[in-house]
Amino acid sequence: MRYRDAIAVLLVALCLPIRTSSVTAQSLPSPEVVADQMIRRALMDRKGYAWLKELCDMGPRLSGSPQSYRAIEWARAKMKALGFDRVWLQPVMVPRWVRGEVEEAIVHLPGTSRAVPLRVLALGGSVGTSTEGMQASVLRVSSFAELKTHREEAQGKFVFFDFPMDAGKVPTFAGYGEAVRYRVYGAIEAAKVGAVGVLIRSITTRYDDVPHTGVLFYADTLKKIPAVALGWQSADRLAELLRRHPQLELRLQLSSRTLPDTLSYNVIGEIRGREKPEEIIVVAGHFDSWDVGDGAHDDAAGCIQALEAAELFLRLQLQPRRTIRVVFFINEENGMRGARAYARRAAQKEEYHYAAIESDRGAFTPRGFSVTADSVLIARMQAWIPILKKAGIDWIRKGGSGADVSRIPNCPLKFGLVPDSQRYFDVHHSANDVFEAVHPRELELGSAAIAVLTLLLSETDLHLPNPVSTH
Ligand SMILES: [Zn+2]
Repeated sequence: MRYRDAIAVLLVALCLPIRTSSVTAQSLPSPEVVADQMIRRALMDRKGYAWLKELCDMGPRLSGSPQSYRAIEWARAKMKALGFDRVWLQPVMVPRWVRGEVEEAIVHLPGTSRAVPLRVLALGGSVGTSTEGMQASVLRVSSFAELKTHREEAQGKFVFFDFPMDAGKVPTFAGYGEAVRYRVYGAIEAAKVGAVGVLIRSITTRYDDVPHTGVLFYADTLKKIPAVALGWQSADRLAELLRRHPQLELRLQLSSRTLPDTLSYNVIGEIRGREKPEEIIVVAGHFDSWDVGDGAHDDAAGCIQALEAAELFLRLQLQPRRTIRVVFFINEENGMRGARAYARRAAQKEEYHYAAIESDRGAFTPRGFSVTADSVLIARMQAWIPILKKAGIDWIRKGGSGADVSRIPNCPLKFGLVPDSQRYFDVHHSANDVFEAVHPRELELGSAAIAVLTLLLSETDLHLPNPVSTH
């Protein structure tokens, strides 16, 4: 009987619609059957993990950096080699910020010759100091409100925003959301009260001394002042030194600077749909990263998962009913220019995006999909949970999608893959975010989860509202 079962399985396998150059109108086997194959192949072949290694070996991919161009060329060649029907680069002008060679913070204690070095990382977009550096005393506050009450004392000093990310919150993004305002707006609020520089406590869940960067904003009407993140232990050290020596001085030297905007690209690859080619399902990540570590979880892994989700159709020789388009957005971290350019072009061409899925929360064990969509559609999608559960997805809930896909016009279903979040902020935007921090099974299960959702979106009908004109 076993032998006969095996023959039956083989026959079913041979009957799958084989993807050839001529479009077949054949429908796929049931989603349950294809989902099982996708998950198994992802976990066993580990192709995505191998691609992640190739990508991470090129180094981090800050917009406009030499490594980012090498990675873009790699991605284009990879999509072509994998057999995507159409692969192209979409031009985007991006900001070009460079960290430079010098990054140094040293505490000088009053009345002694003692100097205590601190581990710092300039925030993304920060201006540098003069080549000699700058020296000033430090005002430590725990909030913007506290800064306001001490505004007279801030004049001519560094402001140290000592706001630890709330470790008591189970979803770590909730703690991040509160703390990130000091990174993004700290330099503006400090400049308003006449401060000369900003220090923040790194936004992290790990108690090490590796500082975490990320974007900051300046206001055109205010002085642009240098801003750095302190490693968690360095922040503890500075807080303690300030308690004992409120008059201490900090010397900061940074050679970061902003160069003129430069031409870069979104990388796009497409598998043409067999029945509804004009209905596009985007699977995406952002291709740029910060300039420390490998940008492995953020967001090389998300891009690889998007790539592999689409490639699993090719691997299984299945042609999807709708068009699957992989988009690697450039410049999510410090400008969102890639997402804006993509959205603009989609509106101009009046493209209809049936759905879009982004992976940009780390490649940890997948848990669910958060979706921006009409409640009626979300209710209908609950019928998919038994199939998605095969890939570890327990829920589809209303919520945010991803920074890039959220901008796509004329798209009724926008998803974000939600993995377990406990370890993401250990590595996020830091030298800890390296290839070795990604677990192959967790990465591959995420690829499979996106592939299965893409399959369900492609092969079934949710009876969406008719495509609307974007004009
Ligand atoms: Zn990201």
